[in-house]
Amino acid sequence: MQRPFGSSSSPAKPYFTIRMREPPVRQAPTGHDRFQGYTGRLDLRLEVVSEYLHVGGGGIDVTGPQGREHAYHTFARRDGQLVIPGTSIKGAVRAVLEAISNSCVGVAGRREDAGRDHRRCQNTGALCPACRIFGTTGWRGRAHFPDAAPVGDVQAQVVKIADLWRPRPTKARKFYRSGQFRKLDPRPERNHRFLEAVPKGSVFATSLVFENASAAEMSLLLRAMGLDAARDASPTAAFWVKLGGAKPRCFGAVSFRPLALRLVGPGASLVRDLARGGSPQPVEERLREWLRETSLLHEPSWREFREQSGRPGDGYCPEGLY
Ligand SMILES: [Zn+2]
Repeated sequence: MQRPFGSSSSPAKPYFTIRMREPPVRQAPTGHDRFQGYTGRLDLRLEVVSEYLHVGGGGIDVTGPQGREHAYHTFARRDGQLVIPGTSIKGAVRAVLEAISNSCVGVAGRREDAGRDHRRCQNTGALCPACRIFGTTGWRGRAHFPDAAPVGDVQAQVVKIADLWRPRPTKARKFYRSGQFRKLDPRPERNHRFLEAVPKGSVFATSLVFENASAAEMSLLLRAMGLDAARDASPTAAFWVKLGGAKPRCFGAVSFRPLALRLVGPGASLVRDLARGGSPQPVEERLREWLRETSLLHEPSWREFREQSGRPGDGYCPEGLY
């Protein structure tokens, strides 16, 4: 059955909000000067689980039969190959991490006002968990993602969507749900636009690269990618992360699958480890161990996030204004 978000009594919204109630716990960040905690690389497969993913490259191209061409927004590319920029992945993961760790709202212009306590950290000697991990002005972060390259044959398509409006400001953190995209008549039309997008099932390869991270920080990073593990079970996607453009149109739900883990140093093996890119680790055991460490997790927000984020198939995203 086709079920829109919401009900007749509450308007259908493709998003949910997380209200931040208490001020962030701010601390001095872990330095870059010596090895402590975990340094290494978690190789990941990122799979598109919504109908489409569009990550804009800032360009416009033209398609369609001669005389009736129309413009579309291109997907990001590097050396002619489709790519998901690592900064886009980081932005999406950081937004979730901020919400589930009661951190500051790190990116301005999202039209989210979570209150004075959650304005961006100013003092590099007292940073919220997200700024300690991903950095802020004057403080280099300790986690990033390289650009994600396609695995196998990934073919982009040009897809029509109804125009998006500038979101209304909210007094909370705002996240888009994962729902189903409703296909539109492909002919050009007013108040519509075309996006180059990759379809459901497209797979990309990336890694989480981390430096001097504690187990509690690794736990936050894994959860912010939607990963969780029941006791003795493999870490799997507990929810999908939303990435790229047209999120209100149900684009951009992705799942992360951990593939391999390498850790570096400390101690005598450090130089050898660095040269080899780290020692391979039993990925499931190590991830489960990290996920058990919840001292930086803001449990009420984490529960709320999991309950509200939904999965593809949970209803159709609205076609027009909402
Ligand atoms: Zn902060």
